[in-house]
Amino acid sequence: MEHYDLIVIGSGPAGRRAAIQAAKFGRDVLVVERGRRVGGVSVHTGTIPSKTLRETALNLSGWRERGFYGRSYRVKQDISADDLRARLHITLNHEIEVLEHQFARNQVSTLRGEAKFVDEKSIEVEGEAGETFHFSSDKFLIAVGTQPFRPDYVPFDGEYILDSDEILELVDLPRSIAVIGAGVIGIEYATIFSALDVHVTLIEPRDTMLDFIDSELVADFTHELRDRGIVMRFGSKVEKITKHGPGKCEIELEGGRCIRSNVVLFAAGRMGNTKPLNLDACGLTVDHRGRLKVDAQTFQTDVEHIFAAGDVIGFPSLASTSMEQGRIATCHALGEKAYDPPEYFPYGIYAVPEISTVGMTEEEVKERGIPYECGIARFRETSRGHIMGLNSGMLKMIFSLKTRRLLGCHIVGEGATELIHIGQAVLNLKGTLEYFVENTFNYPTLAEAYKIAALDAWNRMPIIEE
Ligand SMILES: Cc1cc2nc3c(=O)[nH]c(=O)nc-3n(C[C@H](O)[C@H](O)[C@H](O)COP(=O)(O)OP(=O)(O)OC[C@H]3O[C@@H](n4cnc5c(N)ncnc54)[C@H](O)[C@@H]3O)c2cc1C
Repeated sequence: MEHYDLIVIGSGPAGRRAAIQAAKFGRDVLVVERGRRVGGVSVHTGTIPSKTLRETALNLSGWRERGFYGRSYRVKQDISADDLRARLHITLNHEIEVLEHQFARNQVSTLRGEAKFVDEKSIEVEGEAGETFHFSSDKFLIAVGTQPFRPDYVPFDGEYILDSDEILELVDLPRSIAVIGAGVIGIEYATIFSALDVHVTLIEPRDTMLDFIDSELVADFTHELRDRGIVMRFGSKVEKITKHGPGKCEIELEGGRCIRSNVVLFAAGRMGNTKPLNLDACGLTVDHRGRLKVDAQTFQTDVEHIFAAGDVIGFPSLASTSMEQGRIATCHALGEKAYDPPEYFPYGIYAVPEISTVGMTEEEVKERGIPYECGIARFRETSRGHIMGLNSGMLKMIFSLKTRRLLGCHIVGEGATELIHIGQAVLNLKGTLEYFVENTFNYPTLAEAYKIAALDAWNRMPIIEE
């Protein structure tokens, strides 16, 4: 039986970074991946495909220019599902090639097949043709990710009633879509389809959405979605979904309301891919969503030599954080020096418009009883915003009244996921309001909104006696 220093199960962002880090430490590492090619959800069905689709939709629809030329402005008149897919295949192939090259360059061994534990220290891998291989290892990293939750009451058909993996295979662009689940994935797809002028109904059993985002931003975002004609049906559970024929779907809500659409996207939750791992054999258990529990600093599971990282350990379930977790987990597993995961990481939601946030929300600051002041800038107040024809978008910063330190930064609007890194740097370097007031920002830029928001807060902050 071949033996390794570290076996990584899964080649998504967590597994990939973990394996490369182990190879850089000069250890023997094997990555087992059951998919046809490496990359995980991030490359094949999640992050990169949805962001490529978003970019294509915004480009072909002329979305970014509509502030100037009106809502009927289009770059391409009849956008088809094939138009949307064309760019997808080119981008994905490129991503996969880069990954394969990274593995080869760093001498990471990879094997295609599904892994399961035989005992605490060994696994069996079943290849595509049913052949089996056995390996042992000193340490393991479980980075198997998640798959869409598919409850029995949803009659998925792969054509009109779809999960978030299948939506990428849409044959035709529908005229209407009902999206069930106002989580990050549901909201991203709902707003992308809306930018393509597809009529969207967003359904959510809870009364609210994105509860971890500052509520002032959510209010602004919600207003924009309504203004664009997205229908929101919140606060009622889905009772039944029926397909009456091709493109004729009907959703019955608790209380009797009915929604008809060509296509239904069910995007309410994901399940850890832990079932095939035969975790009983190594002494691990999972929660009701198939997720593993780990130590928050080391990513060690309840079994000393087994670590887990990425979506399989739950929140925040981002490619960005999964990569860091994978790397830190490897350091701990191999007894190398590791840094602690930063307290505050940026959260990016690639809806149309984007939302991005780092640090505490106003609700959290209040809850903790920290005296604070907020500063707000609207993108339309910036010259860059005028040039770009932006009618919406805002940046909000929260500062401590006592220390003047930045506590949280929240942005909704064009470029939010890029702009946030300025706030992130100041926050994690423990910077204060003075950074923004005293420094010059490129002009005209959207980043100037930082200065405007800081001055807005400064106007209300206590005066510092010289
Ligand atoms: C629609 C969508 C959009 C997203 N957008 C973003 C975004 O914009 N930004 C962001 O940061 N994150 C985004 N995410 C989240 C991101 O994709 C995940 O956080 C990330 O892929 C998790 O990485 P991972 O390594 O934990 O697992 P995954 O990427 O899920 O990879 C796990 C791998 O393990 C393999 N595997 C599973 N079981 C076994 C087994 N038994 N044996 C061998 N191999 C196995 C799977 O085949 C898979 O390749 C999005 C997700 C979705 C679904």
